[in-house]
Amino acid sequence: MRRKNKILIILLALSLILTSCGARTYSETVFALDTFVSFTLYEEIPPEVKSLIYSYEKMFSRTDEKSELYRLNLEDKANVSEELYSLIEESLKISEDTMGAFDIRIGEITALWDFKSDHPMPPSDEEIKKALSLSRGEIKLLEGTYIESASDIDLGGVAKGYIAEKAVAYLRSLGIESGLISLGGNIASFGKKPDGEERKIGIRDPMSASDTVGYIKLTDGFVSVSGDYERFFLYDGKKYHHIIDPSTGMPAEGNISSVAVISKDGVLADALSTALFVLGYDSSIELYEKGIYDFEAVFIFKDGTVKATDGAEFYRD
Ligand code: ADP
Ligand code: MG
Repeated sequence: MRRKNKILIILLALSLILTSCGARTYSETVFALDTFVSFTLYEEIPPEVKSLIYSYEKMFSRTDEKSELYRLNLEDKANVSEELYSLIEESLKISEDTMGAFDIRIGEITALWDFKSDHPMPPSDEEIKKALSLSRGEIKLLEGTYIESASDIDLGGVAKGYIAEKAVAYLRSLGIESGLISLGGNIASFGKKPDGEERKIGIRDPMSASDTVGYIKLTDGFVSVSGDYERFFLYDGKKYHHIIDPSTGMPAEGNISSVAVISKDGVLADALSTALFVLGYDSSIELYEKGIYDFEAVFIFKDGTVKATDGAEFYRD
């Protein structure tokens, strides 16, 4: 709870700074999708956009017993909404293209990692082994919108990017031309600021919640950050975070502390930030150079080094 308060204070301070720059800014933050979701617009925030977030939560949550995904995971075969169907379809494609670094079949594994517990501890080797074998089952996209899945699906690495896209589209459909939406580590920017300036999205220093290493200039697009500092616990002096290497069932190891992915495609930005974290720098650059996906990335290494791809409009502080 204390952490939540801290973040709220930061958000509040942020909205005050924004307000002091001229055009009146309206900011609002709600807790949804297991994180803080905030909207910054230059007009009143339509309440429907919040309802939209909650309705997607009811579609994509792995843990909410009333969600559509929960029902699919329980029944193994179900007729689902077109949106759930297409998000799973897209996730499978990204999984293939990232050599399984991104893999939504890890539901049984993520269920073992309780980052919210008062006394979190890593699962046993046996538990991991069992969950790993359960995470290898095929997902079949059947006729109509039927899905059959032999593994429990977790959309935590991609849903926020999808919802960010939908929220922007909704606001635009109302004639709202500019704003910023933040869902946990996923930021959506649309339109220039009223003063004509491009938006600057600060990239957090993984070592310190109150510092940034630089910023990305962004007008229309998405920035998604996956970092080992977002959800983690320490046990016996070792850090366990929430980005899982699907080949081991354990938090992905390596020399990266966070990856920011910038793309016009919110789903891609979100899924790839998770995937690149697991892949590590060299394989990520290979994927980048293949050119099958249009994205840019900023990598922050554990030793503090920062590397950005050529097209990332990243500027150091
Ligand atoms: P956050 O959810 O904190 O914004 P990410 O976008 O990196 O961070 O997503 C991490 C979430 O995605 C985890 O909480 C888990 O639900 C899921 N996840 C973890 N590892 C993977 C993976 N290798 N492939 C797909 N999803 C993953
Ligand atoms: Mg992600």
